[in-house]
Parts: sequence; structure tokens; C-alpha cells
Amino acid sequence: MAKKTIALIAHDNKKDEMVAWALSRKDVLAKYDICGTGTTSRRVSEATGLDVKGFLSGPLGGDQQIGAHLAEGKIDAVIFFCDPLTALPHDPDVRALLRIAVVYDVPIATNKSTADCVLAADIDRAFN
Ligand code: PGA
Repeated sequence: MAKKTIALIAHDNKKDEMVAWALSRKDVLAKYDICGTGTTSRRVSEATGLDVKGFLSGPLGGDQQIGAHLAEGKIDAVIFFCDPLTALPHDPDVRALLRIAVVYDVPIATNKSTADCVLAADIDRAFN
């Protein structure tokens, strides 16, 4: 069976949380192909040593790239630590990504506890 793909995105105020979460879940994440928006993917890759395919930075189109891949069936889950307390220039892209994940019924975790539920659910069997 082909490896499933998980996309990682963290807004600036959530990047340290994403890095800490990815480090603590490194062994599980290693079972998947991992991709992410530009800075998030670089930070996670540097911290964990995992190979993380990087898209563009979120504000420069990375969220849209991930949304397009999701719509094409190339992304099986999204871990998206979004910042609910800061106005973002790319808010329309964020909403578009959330919307397209709903359209295609792809799990999208927007906080740590949901991210843990998604990993615990065993993406290979539970989804798609
Ligand atoms: P970044 O993008 O990982 O390139 O910072 C995340 C975002 O802000 O959407």
C-alpha cells in the first residue's frame, strides 16, 4: 500500500508548538510522507530530521498549493495549527483550505488534541 501523505502548516505564533508536537510524534510521522508550507516544513525537518517536502510559504500561496493537492487526492490528512488571535493577510487562503478539506472529507486538525486523534486513528485504515 502506498504511503499516505500528511501536510503540516503552522502560523507564526504556532510554529514552536508545531515543532514540539512533531518532535514528540516523530516515530509516527516517519511512517508517512510529510509535506508542508515553506517555513513550517523547514522548521519541522530541521528539528526532527524527517524529510518534509516544502511548498511555498503560506502567505505566498502555500496553503493554496496544499489545497490543490488535497483536491487531487494527494494529501490524506492536514495538521494545521492556526492562530486564532492574529489577523492574517492570507485569511482567504486559510478559509479556502478549510473549505476544500470539508468538501473532500479529508481530516484537518486545527489544534494539538485533534492532531493526536488523527494520528491515533491510524490514517491508513480510518480515512479514504
Ligand atoms: P509558513 O506558512 O509555514 O510558510 O510560515 C504558514 C502560514 O502562515 O500559512
